[in-house]
Amino acid sequence: MSYMLGLKCRECGRLYPKEVIFVCEYCFGGVEVDYDYDAIRRVLTKDAVASRPKSLWRYRELLPIEGEPAVGLLSGFTPFFRSERLAQRLGVEELYLKDDSVSHPTLSFKDRVVSVALTRAKEFGFDTVACASTGNLANSVAALSARAGLQRYIFIPSDLEMGKVVGSLIYRPTLVAVEGTYDDVNRLCAEIGSKYPWAFVNINIRPYYAEGSKTYGFEVLEQMGWRAPQHIIVPCAGGSLITKINKAIKEFKLLGLIDPASSTKLYAAQADGCAPIVKAIKERSDIVRPVKPQTIAKSLAIGNPADGYYATRTALDSGGFGESVSDEEIIEAMRLLAETEGVFTETAGGVTVAVARKLIEQGVIPRDESIVVCITGNGLKTQEPLVSRLGQPVRIKPNLASFESTLAEQLAGLSTKTR
Ligand SMILES: *Cc1c(COP(=O)(O)O)cnc(C)c1O
Ligand SMILES: [Zn+2]
Repeated sequence: MSYMLGLKCRECGRLYPKEVIFVCEYCFGGVEVDYDYDAIRRVLTKDAVASRPKSLWRYRELLPIEGEPAVGLLSGFTPFFRSERLAQRLGVEELYLKDDSVSHPTLSFKDRVVSVALTRAKEFGFDTVACASTGNLANSVAALSARAGLQRYIFIPSDLEMGKVVGSLIYRPTLVAVEGTYDDVNRLCAEIGSKYPWAFVNINIRPYYAEGSKTYGFEVLEQMGWRAPQHIIVPCAGGSLITKINKAIKEFKLLGLIDPASSTKLYAAQADGCAPIVKAIKERSDIVRPVKPQTIAKSLAIGNPADGYYATRTALDSGGFGESVSDEEIIEAMRLLAETEGVFTETAGGVTVAVARKLIEQGVIPRDESIVVCITGNGLKTQEPLVSRLGQPVRIKPNLASFESTLAEQLAGLSTKTR
């Protein structure tokens, strides 16, 4: 049983059948999936959701598939928890972390979108899938298509971190490193996609793919006890995740799963070296000007974001805002999160934590309201900017005397610090 009605243009509202369509042929606006919410309301109750397996498919009526979930049955339902120590360091009362750094199987939130995209690609009868990626999407498409038995072509910029390259190659896809930026890769893929009969998860089946991001939002709302936080800080690359978290909140309100009167402000988080969405938000402009990315937050390095306009609108219309941070601040925040909460996130997580800190310090986010910081990827994949900054382990000889002299030095070192 499917509750998907079809596709709807986000600009002119024109309706399309649920096929491989990604732009409105009338106005060139983006299209998105539309559902039969009245029918969903009758089946998708809190009890029904709670009785289902802990995966992203527990909200399946709100996902764009016709039949049974076929890919990523173990993905989603990642940890969500209240922060004590980081909250204290940031000087706020109610802070939560949603942690997709431990997503199954490839340690980023992209497992959500890919689970949905590949299930839909199979329904359409594709035998080959492809993507243009800043790294995490590559890893997820490579892994989940291996398990699903699909052929795959994966395109990445040639300057990605080793962890993301190895994390794709291990699954034996055809991995194509393009000498250019992500935006060059994406342009090339659009051209390839118009020639080869492949499902490009983030291009020709993007409307279905993007719906997978809603599950990140659904889980936050469920895991908070069926209520919405007052503030959510979201990392932005192509700008899809922030718009889909917003759609998730809207849908849960429409279905009566959370208080329809609650309001949530969404904040776009980017790196200074690639902040086209944040810049548009700050200018309160509808025009997102492309930039040439230069940042260690490579997973967010999209200079010409496909959903930039919608991301900007989403942040502003929600009453939220946007902020960007330097590479130094990103690394600082990765270390702060690890040392206070025991979570090792990638550079994108450093971006959201650093942006949260900045918005709190600026007084944009009040210290006594509920705040969720999105952690979307794993630090083991982006070790390069860290290796030279974390110092070295303490090296000793294999005997007790050597250890104890080191211990004495450390204690002496500690006592000379002013406390
Ligand atoms: C892709 C990605 C994002 C942003 O996703 P968009 O929907 O393209 O804005 C955020 N965090 C990580 C780790 C990602 O890989
Ligand atoms: Zn249209």
